[in-house]
Amino acid sequence: METEIDFEELKTNGVKINYYFICKRKLWLFDRKISMENQSDKVLMGKLLHEESYKRDKPKEVLIDNLISIDIVDISNIREIKYSDKMQTADKMQILYYLYYLKNLGIQKKGIINYPKQRKREFIELTEKDEKEIEKTLVEINKILKNTKPPPKIDVPYCKKCAYFEFCYV
Ligand code: SF4
Repeated sequence: METEIDFEELKTNGVKINYYFICKRKLWLFDRKISMENQSDKVLMGKLLHEESYKRDKPKEVLIDNLISIDIVDISNIREIKYSDKMQTADKMQILYYLYYLKNLGIQKKGIINYPKQRKREFIELTEKDEKEIEKTLVEINKILKNTKPPPKIDVPYCKKCAYFEFCYV
């Protein structure tokens, strides 16, 4: 696969791709390993436990380069499980990133996002346009994480549910 970026230099994990599309400040704080113990984290823990319990029936989980963890469903598909369907763009970009990552390794797959709580599935295919978007995102993430200060607060309703709410607003 021909890329227009230095993928080896810019590659990152799926959570950072996800956070980039939620809040760039959250991405920066997460990268600096700043963590907050609050109600939101408890909510997050519940969420993770739910996702983990759902994952138990998975056929195979593969850790690649110690960086990304992918559920292989079958010969054609990988899967991502999400507790909430409120961040669909971020979820979609995360799985598109996995598809991009695999394509770089010469592996072509399609993706499925499962929203068990909402009982729905979304089917994802990586297009050339998506590849460009992923490459642009990796460049942007690299720029953000090099900054010594975090990006500004975004002040959206989601902030109240974010684990960094107290860090940002109190
Ligand atoms: S509280 Fe809001 S501004 Fe702060 S990191 Fe979370 S989403 Fe971003």
